[in-house]
Amino acid sequence: MPPLSSPPIVAVDVGGTWVRAALAEADGSLGRRHRVATDASAGPAAVVAQVAAAVRAVTPFEGGGWSHVPLVAVAVPGPVDLYAGVVDGTPNLAGWAKVPLRRLLEVELRCRCLVDHDATLAALAEQRRGAGRGFSNFAYITVSTGIGAGLVLDGRLYRGGSGRAGEFGHMVVRPDGPLCGCGNRGCLEAVASGTAIAREGGHGTAEEVARAAEEGEPRAMAVLAEAARSLGLAVGALINLLDLECIALGGGVLGSGSRFWEQMVAAVAEGSFASMRADCRILRAELGEDQGLLGAVELALDELRGAGLGVRGLERGGELPSLGGQ
Ligand SMILES: [Zn+2]
Repeated sequence: MPPLSSPPIVAVDVGGTWVRAALAEADGSLGRRHRVATDASAGPAAVVAQVAAAVRAVTPFEGGGWSHVPLVAVAVPGPVDLYAGVVDGTPNLAGWAKVPLRRLLEVELRCRCLVDHDATLAALAEQRRGAGRGFSNFAYITVSTGIGAGLVLDGRLYRGGSGRAGEFGHMVVRPDGPLCGCGNRGCLEAVASGTAIAREGGHGTAEEVARAAEEGEPRAMAVLAEAARSLGLAVGALINLLDLECIALGGGVLGSGSRFWEQMVAAVAEGSFASMRADCRILRAELGEDQGLLGAVELALDELRGAGLGVRGLERGGELPSLGGQ
């Protein structure tokens, strides 16, 4: 490899099912890849070891050392205290309470690491490379086992005070409704996520509920209609609150049939000002399962441009190791 003026970027997406890593090409596309089934029940140390192995598998690493020290950006399936690099619990990974993932990876890999919420990184990727291209005020919403969102406002990723903005799934839409994993009742996630649809619909998965609805099963149809309406009303509230130009939605639940999508879009109108709704495009997300990896690449590119987190992390007293340091 020729000498590099900046470190190679390795993107990692830690999901409940897969740990995926990819080396970024010079143009920001995804090059060499590696994937391993997540040892989700084994706790943080096992997953940190899997992430480290995945990074080494895609990066020049010879004789126990880097030939070129990479910048590693990691997407994780839960809220992150961005400036501390601490993962603040995630339902898809057992035992992940207050895990200092950035520090653990930096010690393990001896290179600089960035950690961010996968929904936030998916929003960044969709706004720059997918459905949100050309829109400065954009939200990405994922509806799968859980419900999450990322926001780009005035052309910049909106992170909030600590980096935890975007917990769209935990807006309470049904007071005294089902208990949510967060401890509150009636969150959107407890009503409209794949997990909620499967539970309320009396089937093993949301896909099975969707199939039953297509076959005319009244309970499945009612559960899906209620989930779609709750989701649409919440999307409408988001439009009213933020005056968005585009919202892209992705995730398995939205792939389960056009009827759900149509019911959701109809409820958006019910929950937003007509004029603001008319100015907001509601689209399907475009980047599929590479969203997290592509968003991680964008995060790392921002960092290398000096527009990323490191600057603010240092301002807040965060400790960032030097490249290749101990
Ligand atoms: Zn909740």
